[in-house]
Amino acid sequence: MKALVFDGKLKLDLNYPMPKIKDNEVLIKTSMVGICNTDYEITKGYMGYKGVLGHEFVGVVSEVGANCDKNLIGKRVVGEINCACNDCEMCHKNLQRHCPNRSTLGIWQKDGCFSEYFTLPKENVLTISDNIDDITATFCEPLAAAYEILEQIHIKPDDKVAILGDGKLGLCISLIFKAMNVDYTHIGKHLDKLEISKNLGAKIKLVSELDEKDMKSFDVVVEATGSTGGFETSASLVKPRGILVLKSTIVAREGLNLASIVVDEITIQGSRCGQFKPVLRLLEDKRIDVSPLVSGIYDVDDFKEAFDKNSQKGTLKVLVKF
Ligand SMILES: [Zn+2]
Ligand SMILES: [Zn+2]
Repeated sequence: MKALVFDGKLKLDLNYPMPKIKDNEVLIKTSMVGICNTDYEITKGYMGYKGVLGHEFVGVVSEVGANCDKNLIGKRVVGEINCACNDCEMCHKNLQRHCPNRSTLGIWQKDGCFSEYFTLPKENVLTISDNIDDITATFCEPLAAAYEILEQIHIKPDDKVAILGDGKLGLCISLIFKAMNVDYTHIGKHLDKLEISKNLGAKIKLVSELDEKDMKSFDVVVEATGSTGGFETSASLVKPRGILVLKSTIVAREGLNLASIVVDEITIQGSRCGQFKPVLRLLEDKRIDVSPLVSGIYDVDDFKEAFDKNSQKGTLKVLVKF
C-alpha cells in the first residue's frame, strides 16, 4: 500500500506492508489527512520518530478485529490519537491521553494515517454523521485540542478573554470560542489571518496596536504563538489572579521572565489534546465552518507539493486526499 514514511527522509513508499489488526483494533481506509505542524517538526527530528506520519484523518472502517463490533465496517470515522494501555492509574481515571504507556498515532511508536490503511484501537474510533463532510471531519483533532481549554478551565460568562497567535492553532481556538459564545479578542501579527476571526464576529487586534490599556486587562489569555516573545506578551495581558493557558510548547527555554507570574499570582494551565465527542456535536450542528482555514487540497501522489505548501509563509491547513 501507499504510505508516506519518514526514516530520516520523507518519502512515498508504494509497497509499505499492510498493517496487521489486533483483536481490539479496527482497520481504517484513509479518505483524507491533514498536515500538522507536528508532522513538519517530526521531519526536523522531533520525538526521534520514524515511521508513517499523520494523525489528523477521516476514513472508512474496512475490517475489524475479533473483539470489535462488525457493524463498524463501512462506517465513516475519525479517531483519537493516543492509544492507551487501559490498565494504569491515569487510564483508570479516564485520562487515557496521559497514559504513560501510550503510543500516539504517527508521533510515537505507532504508524500514522498518512497511508492507504492504518489501525486504531476500537475505543479510539468515533463514527461521524453524513452531514459532516470529509474536509470538516479532518479538523476534528486540532479542534478537539482547542476545545480542551474549555474542559480544563471555567470561562465565566462575563470574562474578558484573549487569544494570542493567529496561526492554525489560534484560529482553531477562535472557531471553538465563537461556537461556545466566549467574549474574546484575537490578537496576532497578520491582518489577513485575523480577518477570519473578524468575519466570525470576534474582536481583533494587531500585536503592534497593543497599548497600556490592554496590559493586565484579560481574565484569561491563551498563548498560541509558540514563541518566547509570545509567552511574555501573553503574560503581560493577564489580570492579577487571572489564567494563562499555554497551548503551544514554547520552543526557547532560556530567558523566560516569570517574575510577573509570581507577583500577579497568575495561574498557568498547560493544554494539549482534547476529546472528539463535544467537537463532533458542534460540527453536526453546523456551528463551525473550517473552510477559511483550508489552504490547499492535494492528492497523496503530490505529497511533495503539499509539504512545500505547508512550509510556506501564510499557509493554514493543507489537506491530502487518498
Ligand atoms: Zn495535529
Ligand atoms: Zn494506561
